[in-house]
Amino acid sequence: MPLPVFIAWQGIQLRLPNDWFLNGFSGDWREGVLTISSAGKTHLDIKWVRSKARSDLQFHLQRFLKQLERDARKRGARFTGTIEPQGEQSLRFRWSGHEQAVGRIRRCPDCQCITLMQLRSTARHEPLHTLAAAIFETLVDHPDAEGWVEWSLYGLHTAVPERFRLESHAILTGQTRLHFRLGRERLTIERIARAEQLMRGWSMPDWAQAWLHWHRWHGAPEPFEFEADPALLWQGRLRFGGLISESLQSLLTLRLPAWRIRAIAWFCPERNALFHIVHQSSRRTPLLDEVMARTVCH
Ligand SMILES: [Zn+2]
Ligand SMILES: [Zn+2]
Repeated sequence: MPLPVFIAWQGIQLRLPNDWFLNGFSGDWREGVLTISSAGKTHLDIKWVRSKARSDLQFHLQRFLKQLERDARKRGARFTGTIEPQGEQSLRFRWSGHEQAVGRIRRCPDCQCITLMQLRSTARHEPLHTLAAAIFETLVDHPDAEGWVEWSLYGLHTAVPERFRLESHAILTGQTRLHFRLGRERLTIERIARAEQLMRGWSMPDWAQAWLHWHRWHGAPEPFEFEADPALLWQGRLRFGGLISESLQSLLTLRLPAWRIRAIAWFCPERNALFHIVHQSSRRTPLLDEVMARTVCH
């Protein structure tokens, strides 16, 4: 059976056992770190570097272990580490200090991305090897064959084209919002939990106007169904001043009449969640529909 939890961030995708969750992240597309945690004392760290430079895996790994050794010494723990080659482009390692860990560093033969993963635990007798092998095997570090990158965290599972970069995000209790950018093109994807309670007493169009700020735009939302869920589509042109966080300087240089905006919202009763996607672009494109089709709701 495949591991049930799917986490994807900045083009790094992994599958994990039940109840594991994204615990922390930093960095960007080029390099960064994720920490994914179990309900117990076991954690997975993953670091990635996307660089054209042919850096040496052994060098990366030794530097990583040196840092751990320094940390262990500060805590007064004895540190031991071993490195073992595993084929051309991969090294396995293990260490024990104030925690114990098994890990792997690898250069992807397809995209050259370097990933360093380790499964660590403070529990002395945790059988890390079997679990590590199962999790490490699920790693994907590059876009799919059609150039799409999946994003999956806190109930939001979607995908965007590779050329878009995450510009900002808001991760709050019950709300996950990702803002992507490609030049002046903007794409926002959002999931709002407990939607039924939030929308109680409102019609969905009124709620979208008020809470998703669709009131900023002219026109009326058109109702439709998305996978049997009630949905709304709004499309039109941006009113002056309605551009998403543009500075005055860039407003003055924009050819305003060309800006199109398309937004969609649908309510998934099964997940009691509302999904919201907004695309701002200067040309007519089916991007919004493609992103919606890749957004998993139930
Ligand atoms: Zn790759
Ligand atoms: Zn649904």
